[in-house]
Amino acid sequence: MSAPSPATAATAIGNAAPALPQHALPSYLQADQLGPWGIYLQQVDRVTPYLGHLARWVETLKRPKRALIVDVPIHLDDGSVAHFEGYRVQHNTSRGPGKGGVRFHQDVTLSEVMALSAWMSIKNAAVNVPYGGAKGGIRVDPRTLSRGELERMTRRYTSEIGIIIGPNKDIPAPDVNTNEQIMAWMMDTYSMNQGSTATGVVTGKPVDLGGSLGRREATGRGVFTVGTQAAHHLGMAIQGARVAVQGFGNVGGVAAKLFAQAGARVVSVQDHSGTVYREAGLDVPALLAHVAEHRGVAGFAGGEAMSRDAFWDTPCDIMIPAALEGQITLTNAGRIQARMVIEGANGPTTPEADDILSERNILVLPDVIANAGGVTVSYFEWVQDFSSFFWDEEEINARLVRVMQTAFDAIWQTAQQHRVSLRTATFIIACTRILHTRELRGLYP
Ligand code: GLU
Repeated sequence: MSAPSPATAATAIGNAAPALPQHALPSYLQADQLGPWGIYLQQVDRVTPYLGHLARWVETLKRPKRALIVDVPIHLDDGSVAHFEGYRVQHNTSRGPGKGGVRFHQDVTLSEVMALSAWMSIKNAAVNVPYGGAKGGIRVDPRTLSRGELERMTRRYTSEIGIIIGPNKDIPAPDVNTNEQIMAWMMDTYSMNQGSTATGVVTGKPVDLGGSLGRREATGRGVFTVGTQAAHHLGMAIQGARVAVQGFGNVGGVAAKLFAQAGARVVSVQDHSGTVYREAGLDVPALLAHVAEHRGVAGFAGGEAMSRDAFWDTPCDIMIPAALEGQITLTNAGRIQARMVIEGANGPTTPEADDILSERNILVLPDVIANAGGVTVSYFEWVQDFSSFFWDEEEINARLVRVMQTAFDAIWQTAQQHRVSLRTATFIIACTRILHTRELRGLYP
Protein backbone atom coordinates (compact mmCIF):
# COMPACT_ATOMS: atom_id res chain seq x y z
CA MET A 1 0.00 0.00 0.00
CA SER A 2 1.45 3.39 -0.91
CA ALA A 3 1.45 6.22 1.59
CA PRO A 4 -1.40 8.74 1.11
CA SER A 5 -0.38 11.94 -0.66
CA PRO A 6 -0.54 15.03 1.57
CA ALA A 7 -3.68 16.12 -0.31
CA THR A 8 -5.48 12.83 0.33
CA ALA A 9 -4.41 12.88 3.95
CA ALA A 10 -5.76 16.41 4.38
CA THR A 11 -9.10 15.42 2.86
CA ALA A 12 -9.29 12.39 5.10
CA ILE A 13 -8.71 14.55 8.15
CA GLY A 14 -11.12 17.23 6.93
CA ASN A 15 -14.05 14.86 6.39
CA ALA A 16 -15.66 13.05 9.30
CA ALA A 17 -14.77 9.36 9.12
CA PRO A 18 -17.75 7.12 8.28
CA ALA A 19 -19.24 5.58 11.41
CA LEU A 20 -17.84 2.15 12.15
CA PRO A 21 -20.35 -0.68 12.14
CA GLN A 22 -20.89 -1.88 15.68
CA HIS A 23 -18.11 -4.16 16.89
CA ALA A 24 -15.96 -3.60 13.78
CA LEU A 25 -12.33 -4.19 14.60
CA PRO A 26 -9.81 -1.43 14.13
CA SER A 27 -7.92 -2.06 10.87
CA TYR A 28 -4.74 -3.15 12.66
CA LEU A 29 -6.68 -5.98 14.33
CA GLN A 30 -8.46 -7.41 11.29
CA ALA A 31 -7.99 -11.08 10.47
CA ASP A 32 -7.10 -10.75 6.80
CA GLN A 33 -4.41 -8.15 7.45
CA LEU A 34 -2.15 -9.77 9.98
CA GLY A 35 -0.63 -13.26 9.92
CA PRO A 36 -0.56 -14.88 13.35
CA TRP A 37 -3.14 -12.51 14.86
CA GLY A 38 -5.47 -13.34 11.95
CA ILE A 39 -5.07 -17.04 12.72
CA TYR A 40 -5.97 -16.42 16.34
CA LEU A 41 -9.10 -14.47 15.32
CA GLN A 42 -10.23 -17.40 13.15
CA GLN A 43 -9.80 -19.72 16.14
CA VAL A 44 -11.98 -17.44 18.28
CA ASP A 45 -14.65 -17.34 15.55
CA ARG A 46 -14.75 -21.13 15.49
CA VAL A 47 -15.43 -21.30 19.20
CA THR A 48 -18.01 -18.52 19.48
CA PRO A 49 -21.05 -20.77 18.70
CA TYR A 50 -20.17 -22.87 21.77
CA LEU A 51 -20.01 -20.02 24.27
CA GLY A 52 -23.72 -19.71 25.00
CA HIS A 53 -24.73 -16.47 26.72
CA LEU A 54 -21.04 -15.58 27.22
CA ALA A 55 -20.74 -15.01 23.46
CA ARG A 56 -21.92 -11.44 24.10
CA TRP A 57 -18.49 -10.77 25.66
CA VAL A 58 -16.44 -12.38 22.89
CA GLU A 59 -15.31 -9.03 21.43
CA THR A 60 -13.14 -8.71 24.54
CA LEU A 61 -10.97 -11.52 23.22
CA LYS A 62 -10.59 -9.96 19.78
CA ARG A 63 -8.42 -7.06 20.85
CA PRO A 64 -5.48 -6.89 23.22
CA LYS A 65 -6.11 -4.98 26.42
CA ARG A 66 -2.84 -3.10 26.08
CA ALA A 67 0.05 -3.10 23.57
CA LEU A 68 3.29 -1.24 24.15
CA ILE A 69 5.88 -0.63 21.44
CA VAL A 70 9.24 0.55 22.74
CA ASP A 71 12.45 1.81 21.21
CA VAL A 72 15.47 0.03 22.67
CA PRO A 73 18.66 2.02 21.94
CA ILE A 74 22.00 0.63 23.11
CA HIS A 75 25.69 1.30 22.69
CA LEU A 76 27.28 -1.43 20.59
CA ASP A 77 30.80 -2.56 21.47
CA ASP A 78 32.24 -0.51 18.59
CA GLY A 79 30.87 2.70 20.14
CA SER A 80 27.98 3.18 17.70
CA VAL A 81 24.33 3.27 18.77
CA ALA A 82 21.79 0.69 17.56
CA HIS A 83 18.00 0.87 17.93
CA PHE A 84 15.86 -2.23 18.37
CA GLU A 85 12.09 -2.51 18.28
CA GLY A 86 10.55 -4.03 21.41
CA TYR A 87 7.01 -5.00 22.36
CA ARG A 88 5.00 -6.05 25.40
CA VAL A 89 1.36 -6.93 24.82
CA GLN A 90 -1.16 -7.73 27.56
CA HIS A 91 -4.00 -9.50 25.85
CA ASN A 92 -6.27 -10.07 28.82
CA THR A 93 -6.04 -9.66 32.59
CA SER A 94 -9.54 -10.70 33.66
CA ARG A 95 -8.33 -13.76 35.57
CA GLY A 96 -5.15 -12.27 37.02
CA PRO A 97 -1.90 -10.54 36.04
CA GLY A 98 -0.59 -10.83 32.50
CA LYS A 99 1.80 -13.76 32.04
CA GLY A 100 3.94 -14.92 29.17
CA GLY A 101 7.43 -15.06 27.76
CA VAL A 102 9.74 -12.68 25.96
CA ARG A 103 11.34 -13.72 22.68
CA PHE A 104 14.36 -12.33 20.88
CA HIS A 105 14.09 -13.06 17.16
CA GLN A 106 14.70 -11.21 13.92
CA ASP A 107 11.17 -11.98 12.70
CA VAL A 108 9.28 -10.68 15.76
CA THR A 109 6.36 -8.41 14.77
CA LEU A 110 3.51 -6.75 16.64
CA SER A 111 1.04 -9.19 15.04
CA GLU A 112 3.08 -12.14 16.25
CA VAL A 113 3.41 -10.82 19.80
CA MET A 114 -0.32 -10.03 19.92
CA ALA A 115 -1.21 -13.57 18.81
CA LEU A 116 1.26 -15.11 21.25
CA SER A 117 -0.17 -12.99 24.08
CA ALA A 118 -3.70 -14.16 23.21
CA TRP A 119 -2.59 -17.81 23.10
CA MET A 120 -1.15 -17.25 26.61
CA SER A 121 -4.61 -16.10 27.80
CA ILE A 122 -6.10 -19.31 26.39
CA LYS A 123 -3.29 -21.51 27.72
CA ASN A 124 -3.37 -20.07 31.24
CA ALA A 125 -7.14 -20.45 31.43
CA ALA A 126 -6.95 -24.00 29.99
CA VAL A 127 -4.69 -25.18 32.83
CA ASN A 128 -6.61 -22.94 35.24
CA VAL A 129 -3.70 -20.92 36.62
CA PRO A 130 -4.84 -17.49 37.87
CA TYR A 131 -3.28 -15.41 35.10
CA GLY A 132 -4.29 -13.46 32.06
CA GLY A 133 -2.14 -13.57 28.93
CA ALA A 134 0.80 -11.44 27.81
CA LYS A 135 3.88 -11.70 25.62
CA GLY A 136 6.90 -9.62 24.73
CA GLY A 137 9.63 -9.57 22.17
CA ILE A 138 12.49 -7.73 20.56
CA ARG A 139 13.06 -7.77 16.82
CA VAL A 140 16.71 -8.83 16.85
CA ASP A 141 18.89 -11.78 15.95
CA PRO A 142 20.60 -12.23 19.32
CA ARG A 143 23.40 -14.26 17.73
CA THR A 144 24.71 -11.03 16.22
CA LEU A 145 25.22 -9.45 19.67
CA SER A 146 28.08 -9.83 22.12
CA ARG A 147 27.22 -10.82 25.68
CA GLY A 148 27.61 -7.21 26.80
CA GLU A 149 25.34 -5.94 24.03
CA LEU A 150 22.75 -8.60 24.88
CA GLU A 151 22.80 -7.55 28.53
CA ARG A 152 22.46 -3.84 27.70
CA MET A 153 19.59 -4.54 25.30
CA THR A 154 17.79 -6.74 27.83
CA ARG A 155 18.18 -4.15 30.59
CA ARG A 156 17.03 -1.21 28.47
CA TYR A 157 14.03 -3.20 27.21
CA THR A 158 13.10 -4.15 30.79
CA SER A 159 13.34 -0.57 31.87
CA GLU A 160 11.15 0.57 28.95
CA ILE A 161 8.41 -2.00 29.68
CA GLY A 162 8.86 -1.40 33.43
CA ILE A 163 5.81 0.87 33.38
CA ILE A 164 3.47 -2.06 32.75
CA ILE A 165 5.17 -5.14 34.26
CA GLY A 166 5.43 -6.16 37.93
CA PRO A 167 4.81 -9.17 40.20
CA ASN A 168 1.10 -8.30 40.43
CA LYS A 169 0.72 -6.77 36.96
CA ASP A 170 2.51 -8.79 34.31
CA ILE A 171 5.23 -11.41 34.75
CA PRO A 172 7.60 -12.15 31.82
CA ALA A 173 9.42 -15.48 31.36
CA PRO A 174 11.74 -17.16 28.85
CA ASP A 175 10.63 -17.93 25.30
CA VAL A 176 12.49 -18.35 21.99
CA ASN A 177 16.17 -17.31 22.44
CA THR A 178 15.76 -16.08 26.02
CA ASN A 179 16.94 -18.00 29.07
CA GLU A 180 17.69 -17.94 32.81
CA GLN A 181 20.49 -15.39 32.44
CA ILE A 182 18.22 -12.99 30.57
CA MET A 183 15.60 -13.42 33.31
CA ALA A 184 18.26 -12.67 35.94
CA TRP A 185 19.11 -9.37 34.15
CA MET A 186 15.42 -8.52 33.84
CA MET A 187 14.80 -9.22 37.53
CA ASP A 188 17.82 -7.16 38.52
CA THR A 189 16.91 -4.21 36.29
CA TYR A 190 13.32 -4.09 37.52
CA SER A 191 14.52 -4.42 41.14
CA MET A 192 17.12 -1.64 40.76
CA ASN A 193 14.43 0.68 39.38
CA GLN A 194 12.07 -0.25 42.24
CA GLY A 195 14.71 0.04 44.94
CA SER A 196 14.08 -3.44 46.32
CA THR A 197 14.58 -7.00 45.14
CA ALA A 198 11.42 -8.25 43.42
CA THR A 199 12.01 -11.90 42.55
CA GLY A 200 8.37 -12.43 41.47
CA VAL A 201 8.60 -10.02 38.52
CA VAL A 202 9.85 -12.76 36.16
CA THR A 203 9.81 -16.56 36.16
CA GLY A 204 12.28 -18.98 34.64
CA LYS A 205 15.06 -17.40 36.76
CA PRO A 206 18.16 -19.27 37.94
CA VAL A 207 17.31 -21.42 40.98
CA ASP A 208 19.77 -19.39 43.08
CA LEU A 209 17.74 -16.21 42.40
CA GLY A 210 14.32 -17.54 43.36
CA GLY A 211 13.82 -19.77 40.34
CA SER A 212 12.01 -23.08 40.64
CA LEU A 213 13.42 -26.55 40.41
CA GLY A 214 11.91 -28.32 37.41
CA ARG A 215 11.14 -25.10 35.48
CA ARG A 216 13.75 -25.67 32.80
CA GLU A 217 12.33 -29.08 31.88
CA ALA A 218 8.67 -28.24 32.51
CA THR A 219 7.49 -27.50 28.96
CA GLY A 220 9.02 -30.70 27.56
CA ARG A 221 7.66 -32.67 30.52
CA GLY A 222 4.18 -31.29 29.83
CA VAL A 223 4.49 -32.28 26.14
CA PHE A 224 5.38 -35.81 27.23
CA THR A 225 2.57 -35.95 29.83
CA VAL A 226 -0.27 -35.01 27.46
CA GLY A 227 1.31 -37.03 24.63
CA THR A 228 1.23 -40.14 26.81
CA GLN A 229 -2.38 -39.49 27.83
CA ALA A 230 -3.50 -39.01 24.22
CA ALA A 231 -1.58 -42.11 23.08
CA HIS A 232 -3.48 -44.06 25.68
CA HIS A 233 -6.81 -42.83 24.22
CA LEU A 234 -5.63 -43.84 20.73
CA GLY A 235 -4.53 -47.26 21.95
CA MET A 236 -0.95 -46.42 20.91
CA ALA A 237 1.93 -47.81 23.00
CA ILE A 238 4.76 -45.35 23.75
CA GLN A 239 7.13 -48.31 23.95
CA GLY A 240 8.50 -48.63 20.40
CA ALA A 241 6.55 -45.60 19.02
CA ARG A 242 8.54 -43.64 16.42
CA VAL A 243 8.94 -39.95 17.22
CA ALA A 244 10.06 -37.07 14.95
CA VAL A 245 10.99 -33.79 16.63
CA GLN A 246 11.49 -30.35 15.10
CA GLY A 247 13.44 -28.06 17.44
CA PHE A 248 15.88 -29.55 19.93
CA GLY A 249 16.09 -26.86 22.57
CA ASN A 250 14.38 -26.52 25.89
CA VAL A 251 11.12 -28.03 24.63
CA GLY A 252 11.98 -30.53 21.87
CA GLY A 253 15.19 -31.75 23.54
CA VAL A 254 13.50 -32.50 26.86
CA ALA A 255 10.43 -34.07 25.23
CA ALA A 256 12.69 -36.29 23.07
CA LYS A 257 14.63 -37.36 26.16
CA LEU A 258 11.47 -38.28 28.09
CA PHE A 259 9.92 -40.17 25.16
CA ALA A 260 13.18 -42.08 24.64
CA GLN A 261 13.33 -42.92 28.36
CA ALA A 262 9.80 -44.32 28.08
CA GLY A 263 10.93 -46.67 25.30
CA ALA A 264 9.97 -44.63 22.20
CA ARG A 265 12.34 -44.46 19.21
CA VAL A 266 13.28 -40.87 18.35
CA VAL A 267 13.90 -41.44 14.64
CA SER A 268 14.33 -37.91 13.33
CA VAL A 269 15.40 -34.57 14.79
CA GLN A 270 15.57 -31.24 12.97
CA ASP A 271 16.88 -27.90 14.21
CA HIS A 272 18.21 -24.67 12.65
CA SER A 273 21.47 -26.43 11.73
CA GLY A 274 20.09 -29.51 9.97
CA THR A 275 18.17 -32.78 10.20
CA VAL A 276 19.36 -36.19 11.42
CA TYR A 277 17.62 -39.53 11.00
CA ARG A 278 18.10 -43.06 12.30
CA GLU A 279 15.44 -45.69 11.77
CA ALA A 280 16.47 -47.71 14.82
CA GLY A 281 16.23 -44.57 16.98
CA LEU A 282 18.80 -41.86 17.69
CA ASP A 283 20.82 -41.97 20.91
CA VAL A 284 19.11 -38.95 22.50
CA PRO A 285 21.60 -38.32 25.37
CA ALA A 286 24.48 -38.49 22.84
CA LEU A 287 22.62 -36.08 20.52
CA LEU A 288 21.98 -33.68 23.43
CA ALA A 289 25.70 -33.76 24.26
CA HIS A 290 26.55 -33.11 20.58
CA VAL A 291 24.17 -30.12 20.50
CA ALA A 292 25.63 -28.71 23.73
CA GLU A 293 29.08 -28.77 22.10
CA HIS A 294 28.30 -27.85 18.48
CA ARG A 295 25.14 -25.71 18.94
CA GLY A 296 23.10 -27.84 16.55
CA VAL A 297 22.33 -31.39 15.43
CA ALA A 298 24.31 -31.04 12.16
CA GLY A 299 27.36 -33.27 12.03
CA PHE A 300 26.02 -35.84 14.52
CA ALA A 301 27.77 -39.10 13.71
CA GLY A 302 25.03 -41.33 15.14
CA GLY A 303 22.53 -40.70 12.31
CA GLU A 304 22.22 -39.85 8.62
CA ALA A 305 21.79 -36.25 7.48
CA MET A 306 18.49 -35.56 5.70
CA SER A 307 17.28 -32.57 3.69
CA ARG A 308 15.15 -30.04 5.61
CA ASP A 309 12.09 -30.80 3.55
CA ALA A 310 12.36 -34.60 3.85
CA PHE A 311 11.74 -34.26 7.59
CA TRP A 312 7.99 -33.99 6.90
CA ASP A 313 7.97 -37.40 5.17
CA THR A 314 9.57 -39.17 8.13
CA PRO A 315 7.79 -42.47 8.82
CA CYS A 316 6.70 -41.91 12.43
CA ASP A 317 3.84 -42.28 14.89
CA ILE A 318 4.29 -39.01 16.77
CA MET A 319 5.48 -35.69 15.35
CA ILE A 320 6.48 -32.88 17.70
CA PRO A 321 6.94 -29.43 16.11
CA ALA A 322 8.79 -27.63 18.91
CA ALA A 323 10.43 -24.70 17.09
CA LEU A 324 8.56 -21.72 15.64
CA GLU A 325 5.08 -20.99 14.30
CA GLY A 326 3.81 -21.62 10.77
CA GLN A 327 5.75 -24.86 10.17
CA ILE A 328 2.93 -27.26 9.23
CA THR A 329 1.22 -25.70 6.23
CA LEU A 330 -0.81 -26.51 3.11
CA THR A 331 2.36 -27.73 1.44
CA ASN A 332 3.45 -30.35 3.95
CA ALA A 333 0.34 -31.31 6.01
CA GLY A 334 -0.65 -33.93 3.42
CA ARG A 335 2.73 -35.65 3.78
CA ILE A 336 2.86 -36.10 7.54
CA GLN A 337 2.72 -39.78 8.40
CA ALA A 338 2.25 -39.52 12.17
CA ARG A 339 -0.96 -40.53 13.96
CA MET A 340 -0.50 -37.68 16.41
CA VAL A 341 1.04 -34.20 16.27
CA ILE A 342 2.01 -32.63 19.61
CA GLU A 343 2.50 -28.87 19.31
CA GLY A 344 5.49 -28.07 21.53
CA ALA A 345 5.91 -24.72 19.74
CA ASN A 346 3.33 -21.94 19.80
CA GLY A 347 1.26 -21.76 16.60
CA PRO A 348 3.19 -24.31 14.49
CA THR A 349 0.13 -25.39 12.43
CA THR A 350 -1.77 -23.04 10.10
CA PRO A 351 -5.61 -23.34 10.14
CA GLU A 352 -5.66 -24.85 6.62
CA ALA A 353 -3.10 -27.45 7.67
CA ASP A 354 -5.11 -28.12 10.83
CA ASP A 355 -8.11 -29.02 8.64
CA ILE A 356 -6.01 -31.32 6.44
CA LEU A 357 -4.63 -33.15 9.49
CA SER A 358 -8.12 -33.58 10.88
CA GLU A 359 -9.46 -34.90 7.54
CA ARG A 360 -6.56 -37.35 7.51
CA ASN A 361 -7.51 -38.47 11.02
CA ILE A 362 -4.26 -37.25 12.54
CA LEU A 363 -4.84 -36.12 16.13
CA VAL A 364 -3.42 -32.67 16.92
CA LEU A 365 -2.63 -31.84 20.55
CA PRO A 366 -2.75 -28.04 20.32
CA ASP A 367 -0.09 -25.72 21.68
CA VAL A 368 -2.52 -24.13 24.13
CA ILE A 369 -2.49 -27.34 26.18
CA ALA A 370 0.53 -29.29 24.86
CA ASN A 371 3.13 -26.69 25.84
CA ALA A 372 1.36 -25.36 28.96
CA GLY A 373 3.78 -27.19 31.28
CA GLY A 374 6.21 -24.26 31.20
CA VAL A 375 3.78 -21.65 32.41
CA THR A 376 2.35 -24.08 34.94
CA VAL A 377 5.72 -24.39 36.67
CA SER A 378 6.18 -20.62 36.18
CA TYR A 379 3.06 -20.29 38.33
CA PHE A 380 4.62 -22.60 40.94
CA GLU A 381 7.77 -20.43 40.83
CA TRP A 382 5.78 -17.23 41.37
CA VAL A 383 3.87 -18.80 44.30
CA GLN A 384 7.16 -19.97 45.85
CA ASP A 385 8.68 -16.49 45.41
CA PHE A 386 5.73 -14.85 47.18
CA SER A 387 5.85 -17.27 50.10
CA SER A 388 9.69 -17.51 50.11
CA PHE A 389 9.22 -21.20 50.65
CA PHE A 390 10.64 -23.56 48.05
CA TRP A 391 9.44 -27.04 47.12
CA ASP A 392 11.51 -30.03 46.06
CA GLU A 393 11.59 -31.22 42.46
CA GLU A 394 9.56 -34.32 43.11
CA GLU A 395 6.69 -32.24 44.47
CA ILE A 396 6.88 -29.83 41.54
CA ASN A 397 6.84 -32.58 38.92
CA ALA A 398 3.98 -34.40 40.66
CA ARG A 399 1.91 -31.19 40.80
CA LEU A 400 2.73 -30.44 37.15
CA VAL A 401 1.54 -33.85 36.01
CA ARG A 402 -1.66 -33.47 38.06
CA VAL A 403 -2.47 -30.05 36.56
CA MET A 404 -1.76 -31.20 32.99
CA GLN A 405 -3.72 -34.44 33.32
CA THR A 406 -6.76 -32.74 34.85
CA ALA A 407 -6.75 -30.11 32.10
CA PHE A 408 -6.29 -32.66 29.33
CA ASP A 409 -9.08 -34.92 30.64
CA ALA A 410 -11.53 -32.00 30.57
CA ILE A 411 -10.43 -31.04 27.05
CA TRP A 412 -10.79 -34.62 25.81
CA GLN A 413 -14.30 -34.87 27.24
CA THR A 414 -15.34 -31.51 25.78
CA ALA A 415 -14.04 -32.58 22.36
CA GLN A 416 -16.07 -35.80 22.54
CA GLN A 417 -19.18 -33.99 23.78
CA HIS A 418 -19.23 -31.37 21.01
CA ARG A 419 -17.49 -33.48 18.34
CA VAL A 420 -14.84 -30.81 17.82
CA SER A 421 -11.05 -30.79 17.58
CA LEU A 422 -8.94 -30.67 20.73
CA ARG A 423 -7.99 -27.10 19.77
CA THR A 424 -11.60 -25.96 19.65
CA ALA A 425 -12.31 -27.89 22.86
CA THR A 426 -9.41 -26.13 24.62
CA PHE A 427 -10.69 -22.77 23.35
CA ILE A 428 -14.23 -23.61 24.56
CA ILE A 429 -12.99 -24.30 28.10
CA ALA A 430 -10.56 -21.38 28.21
CA CYS A 431 -12.84 -18.75 26.62
CA THR A 432 -15.69 -19.80 28.90
CA ARG A 433 -13.46 -19.34 31.97
CA ILE A 434 -12.15 -15.97 30.80
CA LEU A 435 -15.52 -14.58 29.75
CA HIS A 436 -17.25 -15.87 32.87
CA THR A 437 -14.75 -13.87 34.94
CA ARG A 438 -15.28 -10.94 32.62
CA GLU A 439 -19.00 -11.07 33.24
CA LEU A 440 -18.63 -11.45 37.02
CA ARG A 441 -16.28 -8.48 37.20
CA GLY A 442 -18.55 -6.34 35.03
CA LEU A 443 -17.60 -3.44 32.87
CA TYR A 444 -15.83 -0.44 34.42
CA PRO A 445 -17.09 2.26 34.80
N1 GLU B 1 7.12 -18.85 26.93
C1 GLU B 1 6.42 -19.95 27.51
C2 GLU B 1 5.09 -20.18 26.80
O1 GLU B 1 4.93 -19.82 25.67
C3 GLU B 1 6.29 -19.82 29.02
C4 GLU B 1 5.60 -18.59 29.51
C5 GLU B 1 5.68 -18.40 31.01
O2 GLU B 1 6.22 -19.26 31.72
O3 GLU B 1 5.18 -17.38 31.46
O4 GLU B 1 4.21 -20.80 27.34
